[in-house]
Amino acid sequence: MFNNIAKILVIDDERINIQLLFEGLSDEYDILAASNGIDGLKVAREKRPDLILLDIMLGDTHGHDVCNALKEDPETANIPVIFVTAQDKPEDELAGLELGAVDYFKKPFSLPLVRIRVQKQIELKRKTELLEELALVDGLTGVANRRQFDNKLLQAISYVDRNHRGLSLLLIDIDYFKQYNDNYGHVKGDFALKLVAKSLMHGVTRPLDFVARYGGEEFAVILLDATPQEGEALAQKLRIAVENKNIVHETSEFGHITISVGVSHVVAAHEKKISPAAFIENADASLYAAKKAGRNSVVSDEFTP
Ligand code: GH3
Ligand code: MG
Ligand code: MG
Repeated sequence: MFNNIAKILVIDDERINIQLLFEGLSDEYDILAASNGIDGLKVAREKRPDLILLDIMLGDTHGHDVCNALKEDPETANIPVIFVTAQDKPEDELAGLELGAVDYFKKPFSLPLVRIRVQKQIELKRKTELLEELALVDGLTGVANRRQFDNKLLQAISYVDRNHRGLSLLLIDIDYFKQYNDNYGHVKGDFALKLVAKSLMHGVTRPLDFVARYGGEEFAVILLDATPQEGEALAQKLRIAVENKNIVHETSEFGHITISVGVSHVVAAHEKKISPAAFIENADASLYAAKKAGRNSVVSDEFTP
């Protein structure tokens, strides 16, 4: 994502302004253009530009309304907006900045100034994205971290509640992992954790399925739109994948690293809204049952919200 050429969307009803900005910026950026607010919003949503240069007097529409619409839509809310306008009263500038714009260019613009201010905004956007990414990824294993899991689970629940779809949650815990650390040391323990994370990532293949490190040696998988059979089948597949990695663990009864998986399903036809905490608790109870059943096993349960 970070090595791509940045995309800038120019929303302006005057062709000459688009032309000028295109000439001044297209050597470094991909320039997209829209000549009215409606098209601008559409392009912003579809192409996810890195920056929007937004004219204030847009024919029938006011740039402020377009800015408001961009900020209200979660898909476009994080795209920085710079107003471009012939209005130069301080109160206009203030109004634009208060609406969430990051900067304000006055027409006629000086292209060197536009270039450097655009460059600074793009750099800032890149850094913010990097920080956001780091804040959501587990540093050891590279899978999503707990914070991202919490967000994703809320999103998934809201989606399946609204659309009456099925949802499965897998909680995964490595068997006898304390013994593994005691026997081989924490460095090897960390390495084993990375291998387990990798085999979970490889085993989860549908684009919307999601793997996270839930805690120390625990992982979680969210399966959106899944039937109970699909949830159970994936849990078995992951259990077998880890077993087949054959990571030697001589103090485990199995002789290698294994996982136990607790699965909780909500069926598509559920009536009530799912409580995230109760749903996790249900999967946790299944995980506990899988441990009690002898480890290296899967226990599933249907959760009724
Ligand atoms: P069980 O089969 O019942 O799950 O037993 P267990 O030993 O795996 O479970 P327990 O919860 O008692 O121990 C989990 C251990 O996981 C404790 C800790 O040593 C280890 N652990 C947790 N996080 C990390 C980590 O980031 N790195 C390493 N190396 N070990 C970790
Ligand atoms: Mg544990
Ligand atoms: Mg464990």
